[in-house]
Amino acid sequence: MRARAVVDLAALRANVRALRAAAPTAELMTVVKSDAYGHGMVPCARAARAAGADWLGVATPEEAFALRAAGDTGRLMCWLWTPGGPWRQAIEADIDVSASGLWALREVVAAARACGRTARLHLKGDTGLGRNGCQPADWPALVAEARAAEAEGAIRVTGVWSHFACADEPGHPSIAAQLSVFREMIAHAEQAGLRPEVRHIANSPATLTLPESHFDLVRTGISTYGICPSPELGTSADFGLRPVMTLSAALASVKRVPGGHGVSYGHRYVTPGETTLALVPVGYGDGIPRHASGTGPVLVAGKWRTIAGTVAMDQFVVDLGGDTAAPGDEAVLFGPGDRGEPTVEDWARAVGSISYEIVTRISARIPRVYV
Ligand code: PLP
Repeated sequence: MRARAVVDLAALRANVRALRAAAPTAELMTVVKSDAYGHGMVPCARAARAAGADWLGVATPEEAFALRAAGDTGRLMCWLWTPGGPWRQAIEADIDVSASGLWALREVVAAARACGRTARLHLKGDTGLGRNGCQPADWPALVAEARAAEAEGAIRVTGVWSHFACADEPGHPSIAAQLSVFREMIAHAEQAGLRPEVRHIANSPATLTLPESHFDLVRTGISTYGICPSPELGTSADFGLRPVMTLSAALASVKRVPGGHGVSYGHRYVTPGETTLALVPVGYGDGIPRHASGTGPVLVAGKWRTIAGTVAMDQFVVDLGGDTAAPGDEAVLFGPGDRGEPTVEDWARAVGSISYEIVTRISARIPRVYV
């Protein structure tokens, strides 16, 4: 096989159990959007359920429908909606939906009336992220209209929720500020007569480091896949998490070249002397960042190598110096680190990105192999 991403579902299940233990008083939502951060949505969702995930969370309605089509029948929330979205289909599939403003609430209510069902709806507040969510000033109007729709039976407000901006930066002043606004928004909703089943704001970093943010439910994405949300928090091992994905490729060529030999497009690497070059047959068409050129780490022939020159669409080169390897030998881009290979966290650091992006962008061209 040219390349493969081995997805260790036993590790994922153990991570889900570790996350449940990290938030023992809250329900657990495993976030499987964006193809489970590149790991494969349906197999990861099944593994998470088997390990006790109470909820699954996705961004788009299409992701939620794909989970229902795959047979998932548990609590499932989908939060990213645009006007004219498939609300009715979601309500009929018993998917919890979200509204951040009056337009969304009105569309949910209309869809619920049209199908004669009660929509399960989470009201989202912007407590300071400055992204999606209802501004505190607009919250009373949203809550009042939701309460009226609830009284009519069109909706049931199952959740009040929000999202952190800087939970991965311990001690950041916005964390306490967001929690304070969130509590006020909850209090207002409850005074207005709403009785949400779940109040939730915690993502992975908050789940791991901020018990006061757990409320009734935590939404964990990146940590499920065994990846620490940010280097400032430590490493995955510090939290008892094990990386789930190992990305490797079989060397496609190994050859001796003289010194002064330009390597790959633009000749951005020139061999410093006679050396051995190995060709790793993955590139930006597989989701390897092109800006990993000259920086990305790869384990080949027992040592970390750095990508020599430019990452092309389907391949890149590493310089083995005085070492040898054979076509077909394994190049490991990242994994749990047990065999001395780089981790996703090493890749994020090396290419100036975040681990989330590294795994999520591994493309469908790389087969996922579930173990
Ligand atoms: N909740 C929402 C609304 C999200 O968008 C995400 C992911 O970005 C998460 C939870 C999970 O975050 P994390 O992967 O940091 O756990």
